[in-house]
Amino acid sequence: NPPPTLLHPEKWCRGFNHFISQCLIKDFEQRPSVTHLLEHPFIKQVHGKEMSLQKQLAELIQEQQQLGSTAKTRYCTRSCIADKFSLDDDLVNLEVLNEDTIIHQLQKRYADLQIYTYVGDILIALNPFQNLSIYSPQFSKLYHGVKRSSNPPHIFASADAAYQSMVTFSKDQCIIISGESGAGKTESAHLIVQHLTFLGKANNRALREKILQVNPLVEAFGNACTAINDNSSRFGKYLEMMFTPTGAVMGAKISEYLLEKSRVIKQAVGEKNFHIFYYIYAGLYHQKKLSEYRLPDKKPPRYIDNETGRVMHDIVTKDSYGRQFEAIQHCFRIIGFTDEEVYSVYRILTGILNTGNIEFAAISSQHQTDKSEVPNPEALDNAAALLSIGSEELQEALTSHCVVTRGETIIRMNTVDKAADVRDAMSKALYGRLFSWIVNRINTLLHNAESGMNVGILDIFGFENFARNSFEQLCINIANEQIQFYFNQHIFALEQMEYQSEGIDATTVEYEDNRPLLDMFLQKPMGLLSLLDEESRFPQATDLTLVDKFEDNLRCKYFWRPKGVELSFGIQHYAGKVLYDASAFLEKNRDTLPADIVVVLRTSENKLLQQLFSSPLTKTGMFLFLKQVQKLKLKQYSLMDLLSKMVVGQPHFIRCIKPNDDREALMFSHERVLLQLRYTGILETVKIRQKGYSHRILFEEFVKRYYYLAFKAHETPLGSRENCLAILEKSKLDNWVLGKTKVFLKYYHIEQLNLFLREV
Ligand code: ATP
Ligand code: MG
Repeated sequence: NPPPTLLHPEKWCRGFNHFISQCLIKDFEQRPSVTHLLEHPFIKQVHGKEMSLQKQLAELIQEQQQLGSTAKTRYCTRSCIADKFSLDDDLVNLEVLNEDTIIHQLQKRYADLQIYTYVGDILIALNPFQNLSIYSPQFSKLYHGVKRSSNPPHIFASADAAYQSMVTFSKDQCIIISGESGAGKTESAHLIVQHLTFLGKANNRALREKILQVNPLVEAFGNACTAINDNSSRFGKYLEMMFTPTGAVMGAKISEYLLEKSRVIKQAVGEKNFHIFYYIYAGLYHQKKLSEYRLPDKKPPRYIDNETGRVMHDIVTKDSYGRQFEAIQHCFRIIGFTDEEVYSVYRILTGILNTGNIEFAAISSQHQTDKSEVPNPEALDNAAALLSIGSEELQEALTSHCVVTRGETIIRMNTVDKAADVRDAMSKALYGRLFSWIVNRINTLLHNAESGMNVGILDIFGFENFARNSFEQLCINIANEQIQFYFNQHIFALEQMEYQSEGIDATTVEYEDNRPLLDMFLQKPMGLLSLLDEESRFPQATDLTLVDKFEDNLRCKYFWRPKGVELSFGIQHYAGKVLYDASAFLEKNRDTLPADIVVVLRTSENKLLQQLFSSPLTKTGMFLFLKQVQKLKLKQYSLMDLLSKMVVGQPHFIRCIKPNDDREALMFSHERVLLQLRYTGILETVKIRQKGYSHRILFEEFVKRYYYLAFKAHETPLGSRENCLAILEKSKLDNWVLGKTKVFLKYYHIEQLNLFLREV
């Protein structure tokens, strides 16, 4: 029985549950005084200004310390408090199950700063919009290899589960993080990497350091401030952490998808370019090196001066961008980029900024109104100098193009608009290729060729719905649609199919299938993407003919065309209705880079730049990823099939939820959360986890994994039904079922079996 003080009801107050786990860890081991405890950021943070509550808590903790807190008393306390406030760590345990009870539970937990909640083996993470002190190394220790129920739900517990599965079964694992923009996917991915690095106790400190720098570096180049999120991912990232068979970290590898290159040349109102451009401009400004990179010091280059004056003001008054630049330099160094490489990267980045400043004007002679010239040749010279190419050659490639007709090469002049397009296409291509190069270089520096096992972490850009949505939002939303489809497949469809084929009697759970919508996007030849491709091949096509084509061919309830707005069309996504503006869809989809530009860039004396353009020209547009998916031609389309090719093991799902749109701590918008719970099918997920068997293991595999539990180590029992039965009976689990070829287990059985295994 827990000591009586712990049961004193008046002293139970909200928040206690949250940091009770802290009682045992370092901070409290010295049995600090009440005054000392009051100073602890944890207490301050949990109860804000409520002094009396803080005091009560501090006293309570001290009392508990004096009683000598052990894991057991802590656990009892947790249970008592959970009972008192009916805070359930796992929604599967809810007796009454409906939207109201779920949301009520999440809301109560959120008010208590319990941002994590389980749905069986799935983790729900509510964005706290404030820094919580629950991610320190002490917490990593707390969540290392212990029973899940010993501690409150935590992202570290999910990372731990993936890691333990990998080590125990020598199988690759995959963690799929989903949620809308700003819900906390990228933060979650960081925390997972942090905990995996801790678990993988790299004996090699240098390697651990390197791995921890990967995310900050890649995100400086791939993230940007949007109207929704100040650090929004503008690309999809799959990070694999490699481990030796004994579970020590030995490397990491990143794959990147669909970088939103168009952001380099233009940003919507209130949005910014990729972080790195501000970092480098501010860094060079403060280091007084702008002139070395031929950048003006009064007014930032056009590509980063979306809101005139604002950036310069930020750079001059605060030094945060400058400090970020130093941090990036540090990342490059730690990961192992050479000084020469880093210098080349800076030259290319500043080359891009200078390129953006090149202007074009019409040459107005009587007969030739379609020619253009550069009225500010210094910008052209600057760009050419930084890219280490000839200024005249650059000008020629921007203002004219070669056409080969009947074996003859003719030079045609570019109009002002065309020249500006070519300039911007060049900037996008430079940035896109630079980004891919950085990612590849990181992989070479961090990827240990020895074969091992890995835990992959998928963190893509979340679902977006802005005031104006363009081609990029469409791509992003289709990718999210695919993740949702994978989740559905994995959680509902495959599971229920297996019950049938194995003759198991389990209740079916209805769920919202977004397959028809994916068909509308991906089907050939009449899906939206195919139609877009087809239209992109007609030189005479316009964005209007494209929307007409959509309207003529996409006859389903998910597509509509609002009256009165020519270039607009709407899509009913799984996560809500989005209105798209088709302006520049064709151009963005074509994503062409004139050969003349490639030829000039290949002459660069910057070796890195030369290399970027030396490989054969492949299309690197936003669609590459989606197209790859299509090419696979698998039974179900998906990024997930690609994923399932990448991983063989069990996927682990983390569903991030945004509690409000104002990025406010402790604010829980019932309406917004309900919407997300609905479209992600959380209620159905809880049901299937309650009723279903989330683990289905072939007899043979089951015997191989767990035969220790019922047989002697030297025995080699057959993978038969009888032997499975023997193991299951010996392990004294209940609620499992045997099918025709597989053992059906509840989500919590795996943890129990693994614990037994460790004990044997
Ligand atoms: P996008 O799809 O736009 O990339 P995202 O889901 O990756 O969005 P994040 O960038 O991870 O969203 O989170 C947005 C912001 O929310 C973070 O910058 C941070 O301020 C806050 N946040 C998210 N998770 C946490 C957390 N666990 N602790 C503290 N703050 C958090
Ligand atoms: Mg992100």
